[in-house]
Amino acid sequence: MCRFSLEKYDPPDKTKSPTSLRPEVSRELDSRRAKISTDPFIENILNLISSTNIEKYVTTLSNFNNRHSKSENIHKVAKRLKDELTDLGYVDTSFHEYSQDGYNLKNVICNKKGSADDIILLCGHYDTILKQNLEDIVSRAPGANDNASGVAALLEIARIVSTLNIKRGIQFAFFSGEEQGLWGSTHYAQHVKENNTNLHAVVNMDMCGETGFLSSNKIANIDVDDGQTGAVSSNNEASMNLGLKMESLADTYTEIDTVFDPIDASDYMPFEARGYVCIGAYDGSALPNNPHYHSDTDVLANLNINFLTEVTKMVLAFALSEAK
Ligand SMILES: [Zn+2]
Repeated sequence: MCRFSLEKYDPPDKTKSPTSLRPEVSRELDSRRAKISTDPFIENILNLISSTNIEKYVTTLSNFNNRHSKSENIHKVAKRLKDELTDLGYVDTSFHEYSQDGYNLKNVICNKKGSADDIILLCGHYDTILKQNLEDIVSRAPGANDNASGVAALLEIARIVSTLNIKRGIQFAFFSGEEQGLWGSTHYAQHVKENNTNLHAVVNMDMCGETGFLSSNKIANIDVDDGQTGAVSSNNEASMNLGLKMESLADTYTEIDTVFDPIDASDYMPFEARGYVCIGAYDGSALPNNPHYHSDTDVLANLNINFLTEVTKMVLAFALSEAK
């Protein structure tokens, strides 16, 4: 339990987030691009990613009527995620419990231990919301893209890394309360800070599979801290370097192209506020002309599972390259 009050965030509305980096940062990153050559170890592991599994995970999550953080469902979803991770063979899974605004909620935490002490945090939120009424806890809110897509990708990554020997540990965190204003991630970032957890990097996956309203069905966003939205500046350079690495890995191992955009309106922000190095994977689909965002039509049929599979590949390539 926290002894003092944590910072507050508005309910995230990604349609209002900046979509491009500051031009001088963009030019700087362009000048620092480097090619990464294929590593057979990583390539072999990436081949294990199954789009069938990813689709199955999205279906499981979006079959809940909704996953509103103030509904009873949210606890069922938390249990389902924890059970899923246990079924994948994980023994170190737990609920990180917190209270906010009178609600007792859970983040689901799962550890893949490495031989070293530092860890990479891979995270995403599992709750949903409807834009018409943020307090509607009974109507259908499937949240297939926002954010069953990110959760499904993380579960598939967890499945694949479960049996690997790695140096850095990988921790998976599934947050509730994101749509209320990053509740779960704020409490968890504070927990990480208070426990002096040796966090190498935070990689957030939020909305990773809907390309229908985009100009291209093969461009993913890599969110980096270009100083536009972040709370502290000491970690910007490290975030951009990790972003560049993710970009090169996407180029080497996947069929997608990438663009950078600033971190904003998602679960990495409380980690950013505490100085941790954060990047994110995002499809860029929260556009004003996308009617499915935070709506009852955010369903599996609108997802591009091939694209989501490639984004999963990009994030797994990054995790492996940092952890191996
Ligand atoms: Zn989201």
